[in-house]
Amino acid sequence: MKTHNYSRKRQAICELLMSTREHPSAEWLYNELKPEYPDLSLGTVYRNLKFLESSGVIRSVAVVDGIERYDGITEDHAHFVCNCCGRILDIPIPHDFDSIHSGLFESDKRLAGVGKIEFTKIIYYGNCDECIGKQSISESRE
Ligand SMILES: [Zn+2]
Ligand SMILES: [Zn+2]
Repeated sequence: MKTHNYSRKRQAICELLMSTREHPSAEWLYNELKPEYPDLSLGTVYRNLKFLESSGVIRSVAVVDGIERYDGITEDHAHFVCNCCGRILDIPIPHDFDSIHSGLFESDKRLAGVGKIEFTKIIYYGNCDECIGKQSISESRE
């Protein structure tokens, strides 16, 4: 019974992650699922996230303001992290993605004298349009 309950929660965490583009934190998931699973603990969410990540079902995107953020989409794509509001946006990988690495690759995704690449994370950091908009409004009021 307990095992069944445990896997149901894992399933719920997994489904919620895949249904959102928010790139949530453990705490965000916990707050969303708590009404439906009153006995859910933050520790359970953390444990399940680690399990799902090590199983390759989800990915850890980045640590923003000391908080790890997760992605239910595991196909390769880049991210934009807003330094202002902490939003993480999906960026379709540019068409010349391979050319970024072509100088580094030996062959078959091998880095000469280093090893074989399994995946690449590309994260752009900056200010999102929404935050830039807010900044220019407050500046014009001064
Ligand atoms: Zn922002
Ligand atoms: Zn993403």
